[in-house]
Amino acid sequence: MRRNTAQRQTVHRAVALLDHPSAEAVYRQVKEMDPQIGLATVYRNINILAEEGQIQRLIVPGQAERYDADARDHYHYLCDTCGRIYDVKMPYRPELNEEFAPGVGQNIRTHTILFQGVCKECRQKEDEDGSDSTL
Ligand SMILES: [Zn+2]
Ligand SMILES: [Zn+2]
Repeated sequence: MRRNTAQRQTVHRAVALLDHPSAEAVYRQVKEMDPQIGLATVYRNINILAEEGQIQRLIVPGQAERYDADARDHYHYLCDTCGRIYDVKMPYRPELNEEFAPGVGQNIRTHTILFQGVCKECRQKEDEDGSDSTL
């Protein structure tokens, strides 16, 4: 039982160390912290942490799910080029849930916003490399 808790804490720490990682990236990080923990254990613990609301699961169109140690509601930005996810410095707007609910007659628990584009770092790289040499 205590071993399970320790493993879960390691997985949680790995998610927190990384920047919106995929489950695979979490596994690679955990491996460095504790080589004894296997892939299935990492995936199971990620799911438990997400279900318990200790980490946030981010659904990314066309990509593997990503995870966020910051479980509070906040918005994200996805770079189309490097696939990195950034936190958006814009306050979460819970009032959107109430604004939307009467119109559709549904109960709204939460909402997510994912802004997409090419991030500053990738735009700078493109400028340095010339035109179409990305990838
Ligand atoms: Zn980028
Ligand atoms: Zn985030």
